[in-house]
Amino acid sequence: MLRQGLLVASRSGGVRKIVETAPVTRQVVRRFIAGETTDDALRVTGDLAGEGLLVTLDVLGEDVLDRAQAEQTVKHYADLLGRLADLGLGTRAEVSLKLTAVGQALDEDVALENARRVCTAARSAGTTVTLDMEDHSTVDSTLRILHELRGDFPDTGAVIQSYLRRAEEYCAELAFEGSRVRLCKGAYAAPESVAFDDKADIDRSYVRCMKVLMAGKGYPMLATHDPRLVDIAGALAVLNEREPDTFEYQMLYGIRPQEQRRLAEQGAQVRVYVAYGEQWYGYFMRRLAERPANLGFFVRSTVSKG
Ligand SMILES: Cc1cc2nc3c(=O)[nH]c(=O)nc-3n(C[C@H](O)[C@H](O)[C@H](O)COP(=O)(O)OP(=O)(O)OC[C@H]3O[C@@H](n4cnc5c(N)ncnc54)[C@H](O)[C@@H]3O)c2cc1C
Repeated sequence: MLRQGLLVASRSGGVRKIVETAPVTRQVVRRFIAGETTDDALRVTGDLAGEGLLVTLDVLGEDVLDRAQAEQTVKHYADLLGRLADLGLGTRAEVSLKLTAVGQALDEDVALENARRVCTAARSAGTTVTLDMEDHSTVDSTLRILHELRGDFPDTGAVIQSYLRRAEEYCAELAFEGSRVRLCKGAYAAPESVAFDDKADIDRSYVRCMKVLMAGKGYPMLATHDPRLVDIAGALAVLNEREPDTFEYQMLYGIRPQEQRRLAEQGAQVRVYVAYGEQWYGYFMRRLAERPANLGFFVRSTVSKG
């Protein structure tokens, strides 16, 4: 109930104003977000890379409804990628792209062309792009765009959400050589007709998907902070005789940072998803929805400062 409420609020203009202007919001937001500028993001990326971690950078923004804003997002990514290359961080950091930030809701072809430009900039920087998966209504379009992009950029990463009832089927289709696939549980509100609602069902689906990906020929990117699933991933790597460089763990910036370092110290590849920018509202609300304790922390800080 609370999760659904927060996810609905993540798309409400009214609640957005209240949260964005609350006096302590920024302080709490900084736990999950690297900062508002590219300088902030590059500083955090350099620090994480120095600790042996990989990074995927997300320029915050989604649900863009005009072409000028979509264009701005593309330019922002191109600038970021150019600067990553200048700093020699192309081998340590890639980018994550939300297609709704580059015009998917306006026109699929616009989003495809814009994503192509981001992939071109990534290639010049010696790195890759992963297409984030958003709301269930965008899944078919995102997979079509992924398929088109992979014609020219075969290393473009896909994301499959295990809460989708069709997740295992998608994973089977994507478990081929050279295919980079991020598996996550799913962070959006979705109807029961397309997605599991029960946490145990979502977790069981995650394990089924992981089995398919780890036994397959692709490159699995296991995005979860769930200790049980991380353990199962390790067991599946042994079972499938996978070397540490044939898959990676992924976690969000600010969540279980000690675990990220522990896995990396054990020789695993760990990539941290670093989101930054001014449009942090939707991303922040999804992080609150994932863990009610985060909401308590946010409310307590607001009350004590208010
Ligand atoms: C690298 C990465 C990329 C992602 N990309 C996408 C995407 O493209 N599309 C999409 O829909 N979702 C994406 N997600 C979000 C994902 O779908 C989940 O909502 C999120 O990862 C929480 O699920 P979990 O697997 O960590 O398990 P959970 O069962 O939610 O959490 C397990 C444990 O992790 C810790 N934890 C989890 N979330 C939080 C939090 N917000 N704050 C504090 N502690 C927390 C807690 O200790 C919790 O008990 C991504 C997640 C990661 C890590």
